[in-house]
Amino acid sequence: MQLTVKKADQLKAKPDDSTLGFGSIFTDHMFNMDYNPKDGWHNPRIEPYASIDMDPATMVLHYGQGVFEGLKAFRTESGDIQLFRPNDNFKRFNNSARLLCIPEIDEAFALDALKQLLIIEKDWVPSTPGTSLYIRPTIIATDPFLGVRASHTYRYFIILSPVGAYYAEGFNPVKIWVTRNHVRAVRGGVGEAKTPGNYAASLYAGEQANQHGYTQVLWLDGIEQKYIEEVGAMNIFFVINGELITPMLTGSILPGITRDTVIALAKKWDIKVTERQISIDEVLDAHKSGKLEEIFGSGTAAVISPVGEIKYGDTIITVGNGKVGPMANKFYKTILDIQYGNTEDSAGWIETI
Ligand SMILES: *Cc1c(COP(=O)(O)O)cnc(C)c1O
Repeated sequence: MQLTVKKADQLKAKPDDSTLGFGSIFTDHMFNMDYNPKDGWHNPRIEPYASIDMDPATMVLHYGQGVFEGLKAFRTESGDIQLFRPNDNFKRFNNSARLLCIPEIDEAFALDALKQLLIIEKDWVPSTPGTSLYIRPTIIATDPFLGVRASHTYRYFIILSPVGAYYAEGFNPVKIWVTRNHVRAVRGGVGEAKTPGNYAASLYAGEQANQHGYTQVLWLDGIEQKYIEEVGAMNIFFVINGELITPMLTGSILPGITRDTVIALAKKWDIKVTERQISIDEVLDAHKSGKLEEIFGSGTAAVISPVGEIKYGDTIITVGNGKVGPMANKFYKTILDIQYGNTEDSAGWIETI
């Protein structure tokens, strides 16, 4: 497939690194590609960033048939640009697509197209430590049709957004609220897909957590409301008596690439790491007996997010005296060092542009 490029006539002014937040500034160009049953995926093109003109009946707007990914491009000290495990993002993108009845894309072509977009937008990759260029590949159903079925046509696009350091105010623990009234996903559903509806469904509980003074929701399983699944839009880890524990992937948990990275590093460092069911009661009991050492979330945006407090019903526990634990700290430092090219990439996770 031949990728065409149409450059913008006028380039936007680039923001100062110190003013970068998350997800509100977009670069000059985007990638687009279309799907129809006759041509398959076709007309891949890089063109000026622009609105998408849509019929009000466009299917994604009504039935949420869409999938997305989230990854980052990092600028190294020597000025190079690199990606972290992008093949895993495109693999997961196709898994999400399959679950949503969206035609899969060619992963190698997708990575190549992303690289070409990044070369055109290279000056948008910020260089201040902790900043990066966030990458959002997305596929949406585009048939103008109100019947419930899979769309016949789709648009794949990639937009880019320079983002600031996640921990501008320091690497501090957050307070999390265990919701007992809502679940994020259920077994056999689409919890393991990055699909818009999962995030819409998480907002109500998130707002309730905020109203109670908590930053994130801790999600329990949808059947027994007993086993821990995720925290906000992150995977979760517990350190109990020196052992690193994370919920096993059951279909209702998003298989995070940061999660997989933490597990791989733990194995390399000979830390005992277990993927299994872990109940909220087990965590509270471990706290009672003084064996709960750390809790932290993992995800692309924050990398590692230490948890300092949990509220479950009337019970409130403080984790690790409300301070960042040594494991959270070590994973955080090491993953950032790999992403920014400050340490050797012995696992082959880095893709240079
Ligand atoms: C994206 C995401 C994660 C983290 O995945 P990473 O690949 O580590 O960024 C975890 N949970 C949910 C619900 C997510 O959407």
